[in-house]
Amino acid sequence: MAEHFQALLVTKDGDGQHAGMAELTAADLMDGDVTIAVEHSTVNYKDGLAISGALPILKRFPIIPGIDLAGRVLHSGNPDFREGDRVVVNGHGLGESHHGGYAALARISSEMLIRLPESISTSRAMAIGTAGYTAMLCVIALEKAGVTPEQGPVLVTGAAGGVGSVAIGLLSKLGYHVTASSRRAGQEADYLTALGADEVIDARELHASGKPLAKERWAGAIDSVGSTTLANVLSQIRYNGAVAACGLAQGVDLPTTVMPFILRGVTLAGIDSVMASRPRREEAWRRLAEDLDLAKLDTMVTRITLPDVLSVAEEVVAGKIRGRLVVDL
Ligand code: NDP
Repeated sequence: MAEHFQALLVTKDGDGQHAGMAELTAADLMDGDVTIAVEHSTVNYKDGLAISGALPILKRFPIIPGIDLAGRVLHSGNPDFREGDRVVVNGHGLGESHHGGYAALARISSEMLIRLPESISTSRAMAIGTAGYTAMLCVIALEKAGVTPEQGPVLVTGAAGGVGSVAIGLLSKLGYHVTASSRRAGQEADYLTALGADEVIDARELHASGKPLAKERWAGAIDSVGSTTLANVLSQIRYNGAVAACGLAQGVDLPTTVMPFILRGVTLAGIDSVMASRPRREEAWRRLAEDLDLAKLDTMVTRITLPDVLSVAEEVVAGKIRGRLVVDL
């Protein structure tokens, strides 16, 4: 490992925050018992918000952003991890309050490390990333709420995005009838169908305020959009169905009523990936190794370099990226 390494660094002064490329040394990293040679990272919606400064995601400056990383252990002070082990890290403040994945070298606490399943390379781990791992947490939540393929179609909102794309791939492989809701229904219909969507609907159907209870359509739903979309989805869930809600792409509001819950027994399961416990993370990665078609995953991916992250951040926030971005370090 060269003494100097490339990193994307965000600094802050009186004019606000500034993101740019920097050359750092190991002495610039934070404390931790494990050093990792980062092979790949990714750009999630939250990374877009962090780098563009659209929301105050970054909690300290200067900081290396990047809420995801995958790579190989170089040095470990914890006997559970050895040199060469392939690991994935996300959550627990990575890329928010702790230096993140946009650098060739990372030093972190071994408590944050998850060992990658044998079948998932570091590159594919970042094709999955926080978005895909969150999609898996959503699928597990629907299963726990009792939503089975026999009960009817499952709706995925924000379908052409990262969480949506992986959710479609997972649900389809598990035998669910999947309806994809996308603002880009026309342009991305072939892509979504190839991932496993049985139907594609125009997301605008769900954008405007609707009735507290509408026609029962879906046995379950995975929502990464929030706001009036989530309210409309709740109003269309069948008796005893469930929604796994993880996102806010349309907005953080939720203008709904109690009617779906008290008259149809609908479950609203909140999904947080950041502080999820180690057993939940390990379960999600194990299930991803079993239930995600890796050939489909590869069709979701656009590969970029570290400096490209600076230029794509705004596009990510605008919801213009299809599927997943993998950053090659
Ligand atoms: P992406 O940007 O990849 O996808 C979001 C998708 O939402 C877009 O592709 C678009 O889909 C749709 N969308 C974007 N803007 C709007 C809008 N203004 N109104 C309606 N729909 C919109 O993001 P990710 O998939 O990475 O993340 C999705 C959401 O999930 C984000 O809000 C993110 O913060 C959240 N998230 C939460 C996590 C948690 O722990 N709870 C973890 C990971 C993500 P289309 O064009 O197909 O309509």
